[in-house]
Amino acid sequence: MTKTTKQNCIKKYAEYCDKAQYDEASFLEKLKLKFHLFFCKDCQTYVKRNTQLSQLFTQAKLNFLHPEEKMAIHSKMQNSISSETNTFEA
Ligand SMILES: [Zn+2]
Repeated sequence: MTKTTKQNCIKKYAEYCDKAQYDEASFLEKLKLKFHLFFCKDCQTYVKRNTQLSQLFTQAKLNFLHPEEKMAIHSKMQNSISSETNTFEA
């Protein structure tokens, strides 16, 4: 598997994974994700890391971070959100 297909694969299933985490995924999406995770190690790693990270953030509520680190994470998130939603801008 080339690097490009790997990234595309994670990109595709990361969406399902994020949706599933907030319970926004449809039954079919959850099913697809579960089935894919069964044999895809890369996405397994992604989901594991993602779950750990969000659990960590929820538990600590970002209190353990310095204000600069919070800002860095915040702007990083904003960047990824805006790059995704660019097409919807008028
Ligand atoms: Zn995968």
